[in-house]
Amino acid sequence: MKNKLIQKISDHYWLIKCCYKFASIMLFMMSITSGNAQKSTVKLPDKVKPAPDRTTGEGPFNRLIIRGATLIDGTGGMPRGPVDIIIEKNIIVDIQSVGTPNLPINKDNRPTGATKEIDAKGKFVMPGIIDLHIHTGSKTKAPEAEYVYKLWLAHGITTVRGVPSGDLEWSLSEKRRSKQNKIAAPRMISFHLPGAGIEWKDRKILTPSDAKEWVQYANKKGVDGLKLGSFRPEIMKALLDEANKLGMGSTAHLGQTGVAQMNAIDAARLGLTGMTHFYGLFESMYENNDVQPWPVDMNYNDEQHRFGQVARQWKMVKPGGQKWNSLLEEFLKLDYFINPTMAIYSAGRDVMRARNADWHKDYTLPSLMDYYQPSRKNHGAYWFYWTTHDEVAWKKFYQVWMQFLNEYKNRGGKVTVGSDAGFIYQTYGFTTIQEMEMLQEAGFHPLEVIRSATLHGAEEIFYPKKKPIEYGVVREGLLADLIIIDENPLANMKVLYGTGAVKLNDETGEVERVGGVRYTIKDGILYDAKALLKEVADMVEKQKRFKAIPVNLKN
Ligand SMILES: [Zn+2]
Repeated sequence: MKNKLIQKISDHYWLIKCCYKFASIMLFMMSITSGNAQKSTVKLPDKVKPAPDRTTGEGPFNRLIIRGATLIDGTGGMPRGPVDIIIEKNIIVDIQSVGTPNLPINKDNRPTGATKEIDAKGKFVMPGIIDLHIHTGSKTKAPEAEYVYKLWLAHGITTVRGVPSGDLEWSLSEKRRSKQNKIAAPRMISFHLPGAGIEWKDRKILTPSDAKEWVQYANKKGVDGLKLGSFRPEIMKALLDEANKLGMGSTAHLGQTGVAQMNAIDAARLGLTGMTHFYGLFESMYENNDVQPWPVDMNYNDEQHRFGQVARQWKMVKPGGQKWNSLLEEFLKLDYFINPTMAIYSAGRDVMRARNADWHKDYTLPSLMDYYQPSRKNHGAYWFYWTTHDEVAWKKFYQVWMQFLNEYKNRGGKVTVGSDAGFIYQTYGFTTIQEMEMLQEAGFHPLEVIRSATLHGAEEIFYPKKKPIEYGVVREGLLADLIIIDENPLANMKVLYGTGAVKLNDETGEVERVGGVRYTIKDGILYDAKALLKEVADMVEKQKRFKAIPVNLKN
């Protein structure tokens, strides 16, 4: 969700409550979404509370040995085990095969000298998950970053790319604290919107030279890459030329207000690293149109129009046709990454399922749940009157979109994982796993799904830097970002959900929940994923209790 800039930024800046400021923020958004890359003077808002200093997580250890695991390394290669994995400080130093399944392991052939051991017999190890499309949210939805970070870690997410995570200064500060392991949080990659940053608050990007100047400014600040909209071509070109020169990444939500002048292939040709969402994709291969034939009363600011109508594109392209195939070929030639964020729109095809998801009760903050309810002002709350027609259109839309993604993957294209959670009944962490389930639905083998969520995510991060990956695969020499699960995610991706998967125990006749990540290791630090989930549940419980107190007793 982004050119949702309207809500998004008003969210980040917590301005929806301030009517007098709302008008100026609307102008701000509209100037950005119009493709002029302008920015008006908006006072910076209250921010989400940064995470507290870290009190959970053990390590890093001088020599941690994970013993007897079955390893899914993230490259798409088949699982193998039992293996012993040795981690010294934050580096994977050795992976040793220690036997064959169903035979006792000869102790004499095992590595020794552990200062910490984890018995992973019967368990599975895979790389930490990389979520390339996140926002930490807003005070309205989730006032404390801790809630969001712990949900991510509890789902095995060890790297997130903020697009943006919060405002520029806040994001970079949290990124630094995470890098130093001062907070319990995934690694952070910090992408920002052109014009972000305190020194630019009174400036606008009106010309290509302004665009270049901002990119240089952002680069000096430590920003990793650009989150772009569908800017007009000369601004887009200037932004991308400068970013590519400086080794910065780029991704774009090619918002519908600007997509007529900047679709997915236009942006790819200008040097965009990869696209996020689907905006501009279908427009790049319409059979008989250039601009989507919207109804005449279409209005972007009416979100039911915006999210209801866009799905009607499914019948405007021809799967397997000449335009379809040449687009796939050209994307491939340009090394274009696709970060689809399918799960964030999934309520569109079955809103009841999303509204009643198993995890809301214990893990969705009441403030977040309130935000999701039908509303004309909250972003992504477009259920003013959601009909069977709307759901059917989204179901059809997914079929075509998924076919495109699967074919791209089959030709060697890189499709990565991003969640965009915090909108549309999608709660942090859970959405990332749902995205992985949807890739499987698109036709990806579970090993290909995991590769999208790990190796290919890392490649999208490191490709613009022209450097080899530093994480994303469980391999000697890489950073120790990995997860340990009791169940096999290849057999059932649902075991990665914090709430696990429902299973009938035939011995006892009881219905149980199995799975959920057991441990998340980020940068050599060991987190008990179940304990993190419990902390999240306590935060939810606390907010519920607070909400139950009459207003006049709250202060
Ligand atoms: Zn987004």
